[in-house]
Amino acid sequence: MATEKTTNFQNGVFQAIVEQCEGCERIVAVEETKYCGTYVNPGAKWRQGMCNFATHAKPEVAVVTARINPLKAAKRASKRK
Ligand code: SF4
Repeated sequence: MATEKTTNFQNGVFQAIVEQCEGCERIVAVEETKYCGTYVNPGAKWRQGMCNFATHAKPEVAVVTARINPLKAAKRASKRK
């Protein structure tokens, strides 16, 4: 099975990793070239932002805290009745 996997990387189906992949645990090194064990085209995974399978980087979760004015909230609630 391991040989089968290696063949996939060598027959040109899989493309080499991109710079952003460096440090990811899914990288598979075959001879001189590094490939992603998960994606055929790692470059495409990074084109639109972060690769969601990257093990070395996590997207920063933007926490948006909605500030609620308690007085206004009470007014709104009372109007609804
Ligand atoms: S999982 Fe994503 S970051 Fe990791 S090697 Fe593959 S494409 Fe690159």
